[in-house]
Amino acid sequence: LSMDDRLAKNRFDSDDHNPHIIIDKEACKTCDHKACTFCCPAERYKWDAQKDKFSFDHVGCLECGNCRYVCERLYRSMTGYSWNYPSQGKGIIFREG
Ligand code: SF4
Repeated sequence: LSMDDRLAKNRFDSDDHNPHIIIDKEACKTCDHKACTFCCPAERYKWDAQKDKFSFDHVGCLECGNCRYVCERLYRSMTGYSWNYPSQGKGIIFREG
């Protein structure tokens, strides 16, 4: 199986009222490197420079923690930013490996 095929087997029980990652999309527009848009294996962060639009969706997150380490705002839990594992029983359900 390809990596995309393996990822497609995963399922998510999203906690829509309590997202486990919170960011400030307006503030993210001002980030110099926007490393999250490159490091996230699930491509949850997207930056469209032409439309001046930064988007993020916690549903589909693999809970790998990469974004937490490349983003100083997330790592330091700065105002408007937080990273936690999903609440008990929520989040990703791995079906393959
Ligand atoms: Fe993407 Fe990993 Fe961050 Fe989830 S924890 S949003 S999969 S980089």
